[in-house]
Amino acid sequence: MSSSAAGPQRLVVAGLSATPGERVTGLIRVDLGETIVELPLVLIHGVRPGPRVGLTAGIHGAEYVSIAAARRVIMELDPATVQGSIVAVLTANPPAFAARSIYLNPLDRRNLNRVFPGDPAGSPSERLAAWLDANVIAGSDLFIDMHCGDMNEALVPFTGLELTGDAAVDALSRRVAEAYGLDYLVIGPLPGSTTTAAATRGIAAVLGEVGGRGQWPESDVGVHAAGLRRALVAAGVLPVSEATGPAGRVSTLLTLEAWLRSEVNGYWHPAVEVGEVVTAGQALGEVRDAFGAVRGAISAPIGGVVLFLVTSLAMNEGDPLLAIGAE
Ligand SMILES: [Zn+2]
Repeated sequence: MSSSAAGPQRLVVAGLSATPGERVTGLIRVDLGETIVELPLVLIHGVRPGPRVGLTAGIHGAEYVSIAAARRVIMELDPATVQGSIVAVLTANPPAFAARSIYLNPLDRRNLNRVFPGDPAGSPSERLAAWLDANVIAGSDLFIDMHCGDMNEALVPFTGLELTGDAAVDALSRRVAEAYGLDYLVIGPLPGSTTTAAATRGIAAVLGEVGGRGQWPESDVGVHAAGLRRALVAAGVLPVSEATGPAGRVSTLLTLEAWLRSEVNGYWHPAVEVGEVVTAGQALGEVRDAFGAVRGAISAPIGGVVLFLVTSLAMNEGDPLLAIGAE
């Protein structure tokens, strides 16, 4: 499934071209309507045939563990070990990265991971999504999207995948997600996301989440990077010898997710920790006003694991509070 634009020996994406055994990098100018951004694109053309993997990191601009881990693996890989090809955008939302923006692209105040597959004539985020969908997701055999908790979020490491209904594609997603080797594996759609866009195209898609809170310690970057390497091995793009770094673990499968949001503006006082197992009805925290009076008491609609948790005191109506994954 290599790109065909300049003949069978070349991988060509967005004007970049790689021959077998080559890694090529470039800053690709993408017109977002009101401004032009430069996306850091990497093509790795393996020396033997194999699947094409599309990869993005930094869809959310302040998710530094994913950005640091993707860059490390993609720039350290020896193309001579690769079977197939990799098309990677190492920082997929440069305006959000530059602004250290939580959730949103500052150009239009939209969450890039809610507007896929985008619109080439739409808002800046919609145009960016359309470009990534057309150039990175489309044409791939497997798509991997690397995230972590945002600047204001803690999380327990987990992978996500979405079912396409095609048994062979879904088996690939499952194999790759399990190989990533994080604590939990969450199955379920996220409308408007990269992975939903990929699944809609019938492409295997895996989400990886490690770390957060605006920090990028080696302990987290190393886990995310090692997970990506194992995922690429499981996909058949890398040999087993490339599965280096801290060992993975057997993921606990979660099939249900409750994503709780605040109904009021205020001050968020969580009563649980990320990774904690909660029971249905358990008090999870309160949103208070400026004087400390309780405006919203949050309880668990289901029992399960707190997968991510907003850790900032500031809370806005409609913003996420936490998510629960259930077995
Ligand atoms: Zn994210």
